[in-house]
Amino acid sequence: MLSADQAIREIQSAIGRLQPKRFPLADLLGLVLAEDVVAVEDLPAVANSAMDGYAVISSSTSGASPNAPRVLRIAEDLPAGRWPEVALQDGLASRIMTGAPLPTGADAVVRVELTERGENGEVLVTRPVDAGRDVRPKGEDVKSGDVPLRRGICLRPADIGMLAALGYCDALAFPRPRVAIITTGDELVDPGAPVPAGCIRDSNRYSLAAQVTSSGCCVGPVLRASDEECAVEQALRDSARADLIVTSGGVSVGDFDLVKDCLARNGRIHFSKVAIRPGKPLVFGEIGGRPVFGLPGNPVSSMVAFEIFVRPALDRMRGLPPRPRLHGELAERVTHKPDRRTYLRARIVSNQSGLRLQPVAMQGTGQISSLTEADVLAVIPEGRESFDAGERVEVIPLWRGWEEQTGPWTV
Ligand code: AMP
Ligand code: MG
Repeated sequence: MLSADQAIREIQSAIGRLQPKRFPLADLLGLVLAEDVVAVEDLPAVANSAMDGYAVISSSTSGASPNAPRVLRIAEDLPAGRWPEVALQDGLASRIMTGAPLPTGADAVVRVELTERGENGEVLVTRPVDAGRDVRPKGEDVKSGDVPLRRGICLRPADIGMLAALGYCDALAFPRPRVAIITTGDELVDPGAPVPAGCIRDSNRYSLAAQVTSSGCCVGPVLRASDEECAVEQALRDSARADLIVTSGGVSVGDFDLVKDCLARNGRIHFSKVAIRPGKPLVFGEIGGRPVFGLPGNPVSSMVAFEIFVRPALDRMRGLPPRPRLHGELAERVTHKPDRRTYLRARIVSNQSGLRLQPVAMQGTGQISSLTEADVLAVIPEGRESFDAGERVEVIPLWRGWEEQTGPWTV
């Protein structure tokens, strides 16, 4: 049986990034940039006004006061979008709006609040301004040759704005992996349908689809297979257009081992057990070059195994660098069987002196509420039985992250 670390290493070495392609601006949000974005022009392209007011030569305002204002003649009006025609000389000012290019000669802007209008349309400046005041110099934001966006970032709204401001209509990015979901089990029925005696609702279909979506990936197809080899094989065949396949159920000890058998016959198995709790029976293999994760059917095991193994695999496919490792301290003593690594469902109770991790009361693998109550998985390492309150352990955040996407999906 592999350790969790060995399993993660095997997965990472078996999975590659998807081929990047160009996406238009409107499709880039949440995608991972596959190229460095180099500015080929300055931003702003020309010096412009940061305020509504008057473009001036700063020395023309020296000594100005409310009692002895400097009187400047207006050369021209400069709304945003107008190119200045008159070069300023001492004694001249141009009325200027925010964003309008500064006229030649001007080196400062006097805010409109610091002026009055004279009887003949001049402007009276009541306070001196320093050179550079309320001017946005050419290239102050980004200089030609700068790299404002680097390969590997997950594009956020501001990044889309930066691309547009620099004149890019598209960018090279990694596509969202498409993930097929196959739940297996004769006992499964849809929520909303009557539940015959002995049957249960297929919650994994929905939790897995939500997890895939929250990983920034596309869901589909979503299939259900009965506990028969031909049904599982058919579902695997029907998933051929996906980049990765996730199955649930049919991998537990003493079960039909359906998924494992189908994979062995039609593809390849890399491993089928990992020393973790919950979620020991976990199959990882491939079919037609597509990675396949056979997750346990148990809802908690399925969700936990997704977070530990599938989400990092999807991160890698979509071009994200590995996530930083986070740590927190246990709020109480924890014991476990040291033969496997335990992923304890925990809440964050305080984050003043770092994260404090309070295990949720219910840790049963059949209890979905252990996960709805949890903020993180606290990683309790194999090899030791008890851990004191205050000991630091690794934490895996659940259900959050700026790089995650939400959106509708169809199952
Ligand atoms: P299995 O791995 O197929 O033996 O399933 C283990 C346990 O998880 C059984 O109690 C199943 O009824 C339950 N289970 C399997 N698949 C699902 C599913 N899609 N949704 C909810 N529970 C499931
Ligand atoms: Mg089953």
